[in-house]
Amino acid sequence: MKTYLMIPVAAATTAFMLAACSRNTDSAHEPAASPEVVITEELTSRLAAADRHDGTEDHVVEDCITCKLHMKGKTDHTAEIAGYEVHLCSGHCMETFTRNPAEALAGVAELLDIP
Ligand SMILES: [Zn+2]
Repeated sequence: MKTYLMIPVAAATTAFMLAACSRNTDSAHEPAASPEVVITEELTSRLAAADRHDGTEDHVVEDCITCKLHMKGKTDHTAEIAGYEVHLCSGHCMETFTRNPAEALAGVAELLDIP
């Protein structure tokens, strides 16, 4: 079974909980409005490069971004970001990636020698 982590939804939920700690009704189905992770062109181009690295451009990054693509990702540890499905190799890498996707992708950029 896949475990998806929806970053924008999680961020919006956190924002809501912080903003409305005294109200706990009518909010469970709010759409994600302001993702904590800013999706920049740089970030998406790095995701695209990571996607190409596994041999198929299908918006599924099969190599672990946290491990700079040296490890094969697993569908058990899947995050979604900017329209990409990202497979991480372990729960630890999943946590590291979701905490700071931009930083993890910076490692990929370095490895692949892209901006
Ligand atoms: Zn990893």
